[in-house]
Amino acid sequence: MHEFAIAYDLYSTARRAALDNKAEQVKRVCVDIGEMAMVNPEQVRFLFQTLTEDDPLFAGAELDCVIIEPESRCSCGYSGNERFVCPQCGSLPELVRGREIVVRHIEIEVADA
Ligand SMILES: [Zn+2]
Repeated sequence: MHEFAIAYDLYSTARRAALDNKAEQVKRVCVDIGEMAMVNPEQVRFLFQTLTEDDPLFAGAELDCVIIEPESRCSCGYSGNERFVCPQCGSLPELVRGREIVVRHIEIEVADA
């Protein structure tokens, strides 16, 4: 159900953005999914298709998922991709990227003015 909530959120975000930009058709929705967000992108894509099926605004729209690698920083000065253990001092680094799920951009078709 986690994935369903995410797919729904992506759908409503994209829909709002499309309407704000006077879109007639949404072609593509590009989404960043952090590796540490613990979601299955395939499942999100599937649920997104299911949600948009009956929405003419999204007819044929595709969801592009980009997996974002985790990035962490430690108080000792380390920064890199280690998630749980700082390779320099052994403490728990702070995750600065990799947990986000955000709509990066959408591709739309606008009616000729
Ligand atoms: Zn450290």
